[in-house]
Amino acid sequence: MDEKALTWGIVGASTIAREWIVDSIRKHPLGRVKAVTSSDLRRAEEFASQMNIADAYDSLASLLADREIQAVYISTKNDRHLSDALEAISAGKHVLCEKPLALEPSDAQTIVDAAQRRGVVLATNHHLRNMESHRAIKRLMDEGAVGVVNSARVFHAGSLPEGLKTWRLHEKGAGAGVIYDISVHNADLLRFYFGVNPLKITAIATTAGDGDREIEDSVMSVWEFPNNVLVQCHDSFVVPFGPRGVEVHGSKGSILGLDIMSQTPGGRVVLRTAEGDQEIPLVHKVAYDRSIVDFIAAIQGTGAPSATGDDGVWSLRLARAVARSAQIGQTVTVGKVQ
Ligand code: NDP
Repeated sequence: MDEKALTWGIVGASTIAREWIVDSIRKHPLGRVKAVTSSDLRRAEEFASQMNIADAYDSLASLLADREIQAVYISTKNDRHLSDALEAISAGKHVLCEKPLALEPSDAQTIVDAAQRRGVVLATNHHLRNMESHRAIKRLMDEGAVGVVNSARVFHAGSLPEGLKTWRLHEKGAGAGVIYDISVHNADLLRFYFGVNPLKITAIATTAGDGDREIEDSVMSVWEFPNNVLVQCHDSFVVPFGPRGVEVHGSKGSILGLDIMSQTPGGRVVLRTAEGDQEIPLVHKVAYDRSIVDFIAAIQGTGAPSATGDDGVWSLRLARAVARSAQIGQTVTVGKVQ
């Protein structure tokens, strides 16, 4: 056992763990991945063998029993996050959990409270705020580059890769649908940009693709922030060729972020003012690397998670407000969503 290493267990043989997170953990000088768990032992063993991980389990309890494991990354289906996180916290492990933290904000709050009581670090894996593009946009907003911000548009409409057209489209109980998947990310991004929560949300949702009829795959919403700032969001699973980005509009200019609503580093940020268009230089990095660096710094007591448990409660609360508004056909006041 390397005393200096931070040893991780991977909870869920998921696509995101396979494509991004195991790699991001290993890029950290202290990061070591020792075990993976799945509900299906064969899937866990395959994952472990492909990713060069020593131990594969089909029960979370077995992984948590390993005293070398200090931290877990949870990326099971959305309905499993609550029980997986509570079990890991109760075993004294630090937890980096995928969004949404749970299906209901009150359950997400239960996770936050449990982590605080147990004295472990809890973080939510919201990656957009860690991307160089979005950090540049926030910097421009804070510097007043576009004057007083009065509105924004978030176009987060894409399509699911074939391999992910599973529970997101067909298992309502698993936390399916575009609101739990995408709107929750917008919520975190907008809180990151503005530093405050919206006051009201109005939304309409529908199912335009091949998924189950009761599971929304498209939603449009309008968010009212303090100081008369309006934001429009379009989130979808059925727009394969739409550009995905952000516009932020102010009294002296606009910020245009193109192809920046993705897991993959890239895209452009342009500042448009009376002087013309100025391309903002970006040195792209993998957003999840920063999630891991900040999470480990929090464990070491030298920093804070880039998105905390509280951030995860709030992003879920706002996503639920979107869902609620779409369901009742009325504007929802955020303070009343629990
Ligand atoms: P996957 O569908 O790939 O994985 C989720 C779970 O589905 C796995 O834990 C696994 O269960 C099960 N599963 C995986 N492959 C199969 C299969 N072939 N047959 C049956 N079951 C399978 O989802 P994602 O990786 O896309 O998402 C996982 C979580 O991560 C979600 O909560 C999602 O919201 C979040 N996410 C976050 C992103 C971000 O940027 N923060 C981006 C993408 C996803 P088991 O563990 O039991 O094997």
